[in-house]
Amino acid sequence: MNRIRLLPEHVANQIAAGEVVERPASVVKELVENSLDAEARRITVEIQSGGRSLIRITDDGFGMSRDDALLCLERHATSKIQRAEDLHGISTMGFRGEALPSIASVSRFSLTTRERDSESPEGTQVIINGGKIVEVKAAGSAAGTSIEARALFFNLPARRKFLRAEETEAAHIQHYLTLAALAHPEVAFTFVKDGRTLWQLSAIKNDDAPIAALRERMRQLSGTLPSLIEVEVSENLNERFTDDATHQLETQDPKLPVRLWGLIGAPGVARSTREDQHLFVNRRPVENRGINHALIEGYHTALMKGRFPVCCLFLEINPAAVDVNIHPAKREVKFRDERAVRGFVTRAVRDALLGFHSASASPPPPRTPSAMEWLSTRPVAPDPAREPALPGFPAPVPRLPMAQPAPLPLSFQRVPPPESKSEVQSPVQPPRAFAPNPQSPILNPQSSNSPTPLLAVPLRLVGVIGRLYVVLESDRGLVLLDQHAAHERILFEQMLTRLERNEITAQRLLLPETIELAPRDAAFVRSVLPVLTRLGVGLSEFGERTFLLDALPPMVKAPDARGFVITLVDELKAAGEGVNPLRLGEHVIAKTVCRHAVKANDPLTGPELENLVNDLRHCAMPYTCPHGRPTLIEMNFRELEKKFGRAQ
Ligand code: ADP
Ligand code: MG
Repeated sequence: MNRIRLLPEHVANQIAAGEVVERPASVVKELVENSLDAEARRITVEIQSGGRSLIRITDDGFGMSRDDALLCLERHATSKIQRAEDLHGISTMGFRGEALPSIASVSRFSLTTRERDSESPEGTQVIINGGKIVEVKAAGSAAGTSIEARALFFNLPARRKFLRAEETEAAHIQHYLTLAALAHPEVAFTFVKDGRTLWQLSAIKNDDAPIAALRERMRQLSGTLPSLIEVEVSENLNERFTDDATHQLETQDPKLPVRLWGLIGAPGVARSTREDQHLFVNRRPVENRGINHALIEGYHTALMKGRFPVCCLFLEINPAAVDVNIHPAKREVKFRDERAVRGFVTRAVRDALLGFHSASASPPPPRTPSAMEWLSTRPVAPDPAREPALPGFPAPVPRLPMAQPAPLPLSFQRVPPPESKSEVQSPVQPPRAFAPNPQSPILNPQSSNSPTPLLAVPLRLVGVIGRLYVVLESDRGLVLLDQHAAHERILFEQMLTRLERNEITAQRLLLPETIELAPRDAAFVRSVLPVLTRLGVGLSEFGERTFLLDALPPMVKAPDARGFVITLVDELKAAGEGVNPLRLGEHVIAKTVCRHAVKANDPLTGPELENLVNDLRHCAMPYTCPHGRPTLIEMNFRELEKKFGRAQ
């Protein structure tokens, strides 16, 4: 008996709809993507009841002829690809030809369209009810396309029941629209929800400065912006991937040009969710764990554990090197060489963060003694000229000179890209390359909207409160410095520099001590002994489970040397195995330094505080402590005025 039969078209469409049309937001996404593919300059999105009763998308794109208007509702009807090979180089948002028939099969659907380039004022209207064509007629309409999906899932009660509260669905829609609006500042977006216009975003034309356009669009969307820094990097990647056909590991030549541009939060700017982390690959909003990781790695110590970067980043890459056809809603993408892309993103982010500070530092004054030096020479002889600095409100307080960042510790240094950065052609038509401003944009706030880093403006010392927070004043307002966090950062970087240069000088203990460990701990310590030695921890084997401790790292002021080593071992163990030992070491240094850094309530004198700020200026990543907590907080005059009710 024959059991198999072909499903009728409308059933097939409904099945496809199960994948494509997950919820109202997916309808909005598919339709807006079609409008973008049709080169619309203005897109209006109207929804009612969270998209359950109405979704209407109207665009001024190139529209469709009568024949196309009918054909586009067939499954696998698309103008965007023709052959299977085209799947390897997709530069449009859509390509499967599934969205319209799917949506039409699960809603009361109407499509009205007129070709932008045609002379005739007459357009076409197609009305479909749950996948069945009800009417096709000529209709007068503006050039472009308007698609309406009413009563979504009216013919699939089970799916309709699964829809969430209207507000939830509306929020999903708005989230998608935010992404589309960020990716296309050149398009005007209007969003009308239940008859109320929520957004009217005008088009931002700025091909020469896509980052400025992006910033402006972000401002349109959210009003005030956190402190954001620009990223603009192109590179040629050395890809390594396995060829599907031959299963051979191939190294592609010519190299793969990639470009990353956009805005990322300045050090210390972060959120507890990924909500403000927007990633686009060839302008398509995507989720990609590899890039998420790369971002966090790029932030390194500028991000608190458990916090997420704020960013809006665009990766432009040859469409052939990325597969967008792995997810029904194309939310995820897969790179041919994930590692290469990941490394590139990490480098780009790290360089931007480091550049944020280094570009801002101006002519170097004579190098002040480092935090290390003043720690070891304390107490500092009071300088009578500066002495009135503390406590209370001082007479003229010296301006702290600006410092040039010291040479970066190696682990912070910009990793040179594998290839020269010049002559990189972006594969997709991106906005024209952002011409690097000869004057650093950061130094020139008028010419760009980039924030001026706090340590680039002169700071005057006012006092210390709570024996921890240093109060400073700048021309912009009030600045607070967490003495403990700042010191941690300074020590951390100095330690890294020494580590990289193999300059760890240990302080010999007057009386070496023996430490006996549990057998497992002993084995573990043996495995990390080289790292410990590099850190300045003078441990050597003295028996099966016994070690001799004869030196400590220089800045460790541990009255209880044994206790210090035992905590260190515990911390090392907690940091986990399977991690590259050097990285593990770095981690632990941060923690150790933290613990043994200047105590919160150590009173510092005026000159010492100045040195602290100067030393911070010499850091590569001065705005956060090694754990990503901010070292400095600013409250500018505007914010103060607001607080005092002097301004709105
Ligand atoms: P896909 O986008 O994958 O090609 P769709 O089902 O979303 O599939 O759309 C089918 C076709 O209909 C598109 O390829 C395009 O030619 C046409 N189309 C859809 N929406 C529009 C629009 N807003 N303006 C112009 N043409 C459109
Ligand atoms: Mg489409």
